[in-house]
Parts: sequence; structure tokens; C-alpha cells
Amino acid sequence: MSELAILGGPKTRTEAYPAWPVWDQRDIDAVTEVIKSGRWGGYPYPGPKTAELAKKFAELQGGGYAVPMTNGTITMEVALRAAGIGWGDEVIVPAYTFQATASAPMGAGAIPVIVDVDPNTYCLDAKAAEKAITPKTKAIIPVHLGSNMADMDAIMALAEKHNLIVIEDCAHAHGAKWNGQGAGTIGHFGSFSLQSSKTLTSGEGGILLCKSAEHAALAASIIDCGRPHALGGGGEDYETGLAIQGGNFRISELQAAMALVGIERFPEQAKQREEMAAYMDEALSEIPGVRVMKRDERHTTRSFYRYIFAVDPAQFGVEHDVLCGALDSEGIDCWVGYEAMHNYELFQPQKSKLAVPNAFPQYFDFKNMNLPEATRACEHEAVWLDEAIFRAGPNGVDDAVAAIKKIQRNAEELNKAAEELRKKHGK
Ligand SMILES: *Cc1c(COP(=O)(O)O)cnc(C)c1O
Repeated sequence: MSELAILGGPKTRTEAYPAWPVWDQRDIDAVTEVIKSGRWGGYPYPGPKTAELAKKFAELQGGGYAVPMTNGTITMEVALRAAGIGWGDEVIVPAYTFQATASAPMGAGAIPVIVDVDPNTYCLDAKAAEKAITPKTKAIIPVHLGSNMADMDAIMALAEKHNLIVIEDCAHAHGAKWNGQGAGTIGHFGSFSLQSSKTLTSGEGGILLCKSAEHAALAASIIDCGRPHALGGGGEDYETGLAIQGGNFRISELQAAMALVGIERFPEQAKQREEMAAYMDEALSEIPGVRVMKRDERHTTRSFYRYIFAVDPAQFGVEHDVLCGALDSEGIDCWVGYEAMHNYELFQPQKSKLAVPNAFPQYFDFKNMNLPEATRACEHEAVWLDEAIFRAGPNGVDDAVAAIKKIQRNAEELNKAAEELRKKHGK
């Protein structure tokens, strides 16, 4: 019998990893309190729970004016609109991220300009961004991916030189710090998601951190049907009338109440993830063909939405997708990660139903674009492990590492089986 679970052998881990999201009596009490108060919705904005969430979240990240809203995609669109960026403007985004980072600029009418990533972190490469700057470039959206952070020193220097707005996509970076400064407080805006898979969640939701009170007031207006809001997010001012194009993207009080409980739990969870990730880094760096993401010393606090590492398929013995499939069978939740942005059908002119790629096909001429690092990461190297591995404690990490070693030991047999499967499916 094979040693590998995917070929009929015993699983490395039979116990399920802890589920996410977690909840306790506090969540039930918080929601019950809101239900009984009768103040369920987000109007008038901000409600008491939403105002408290804004204050507590800005404290958690260490600065800025927080504007809670419906999700972590509209946050980026609202940031662009608050900064006056729209039709025909160019916004630089990395080639390795969730599609929202590029679709949010399109929502504002802007054009995402896709650039390559740094192989050490898989985050936006500031040098690639600089080459992509034109007179139309108005903003740059670095994504702090998995557990890494983009080089914010280089990005802020570039932004200053070219007068660009920086929106940090912090959907993976709650609690992360760069040079001791919270993610999302370094750029002009920080965009956070509270969607159910994220490390701080209310089921759905998003928070936009704004460096300036003026941007925060504009953001509050945009998500509140254009109603004017006072500087610093302190309620409405009906006197000045409706002058801003807005919609209803308000968070509900129920969600805000749940996010507040999540903030209470967050520091303890973050500490455990950071400790276990350090343990994981050490164990993985001993495996030939495994490359642990480089930890920049300026990245002073890490957060772990997903733990990403890279394999060198030639040295490790198998391709990343084969490793992931085998790891899943071993009982270790695993994913090859996002597709490279330029491979998403969504952004291909003709194939896409989006107006922007069809109106500006020259920006989406991917055949003539060179994005080698994102391509290599997405097609051969990257392995994403679920943060649940860390919440399971040292034993959770030990199992993941043991499974990776077991797969490497049996690489030859696994590759043979994978090859047969490929032939059978005509690939
Ligand atoms: C989850 C995510 C988003 C979008 O957040 P939603 O709240 O689901 O809209 C944006 N960017 C990245 C990198 C994400 O992972």
C-alpha cells in the first residue's frame, strides 16, 4: 500500500482543524442587544455600534479615521472616489491578488494597470510600478498578501515623487505592522474586509481607514447616499444639501456589534498565529526545495490570513498543484492560491462583460505583457496553507510539516500517478 493518502494510504491528520469563524456567548449577547434596541440598520450613519467600531478599529491599527461599510471591495472604490479618481485615470495594481483589487478601480471608472510582484514577498514590486507610471497614473494599490507586506517605504517614496494616492489593500493584514506602524495607516487609505474568511470578521463588512479627516467625511458621504458628513465622521450636516454622488453601502449595527466582539478576541489570536508561524518558518526552511517567504525586518508584526510558501518544483520533487492536492488528502487544508490577474477571464477584452477592458483593450493586451514573477508564483510555486493550522497549536504545525515531508519522500510515486491522471484526462 502507498504511504500517501491520495493514493490510498493513511492520512497524516485525521482530526479536523479548528473551524472559522469562532464565536462564543459574547457574539450572541452583542447581537441580542442590537436586536432588542430596535436600531438594526446603519441609518442614520454612523449608528452607535458603528461609531464604536470605527474608534476601536482605528485604535487596533494605530491611527487614521475609520469608516465602516459593507465590504472590503467597495472600500477601495470609495477611497478612489473620495480622492477624486475616476474616468480614464490609471491605477496600478499587482498581478497577484484577489480580483477585487482590480475590479474596484473599474467600479470607479478607472483603469487598473497590472504590474509584477516581488518574488520575495509576492507583493507589488515598487520598481515594476515605477516603470508603469504615466501622466494618467493617479493611484497605486499595494496588496499585503497572505502574511506578507508590500515594501511600503519604496511605495510611499514613489507616491510622493509622482503625487499618487496610495490605497493599501489590507484584506489579509488586520493587525500587521511595518516599522511599527499599522497596515492601512501608512498610505492615504487602508482597505479592510470583514468577510467571513478574514481574520477579523462580522460575516460581511469592510472598513476604510483614511489618513485625512476630509477623506473620511467624503467616504462617509459616498456610502450614505451622498448625505454630507462632518469632518472626523461625526454625523450629518443636512444644511449643505446633497452634492456628492453616493449609494447605500452602510454597514448594519448587527455586523458592527459582531466586529466589536471580534476585536476583543483578536490580539490573542494574532499572537498565537505569529508564534506558530515562526515555528512553521523554522521547520519548513529545513526542507529542500521549500522557500519560506523572506521576512523583511521592517515588517515588525505579521498577520496570518494565509501562510504562503514557495516550492521549487525541480528541487522539491513535485509541482505546487500536485503537492496541494496530496496535502488536502493528508488532512491539511491547502490551496494553490489566486490565479495570476492577467489570466482571469474577467479582464480579457471580448471575453469580459466588464466595460473597462472592452473600452480600453490596449491596457489588457496580456499576450504582450511581461509578468514573470506573478506567473511563476501562480503556475508553479505558491502553496497557501489555512491559518487554522496555527490555531490548532504546535501539533497542527507538526502535522502539516510531516505531511509535506511525506509527500516529498514519495515524490516519484506521486508524479507517476499524476502523469497517468493527466494522460487519462488528455492534458
Ligand atoms: C477578501 C479580499 C478583498 C475583498 O473583500 P470583500 O469584503 O470580500 O469585498 C479584497 N482584496 C483581497 C486581497 C481580499 O482577499
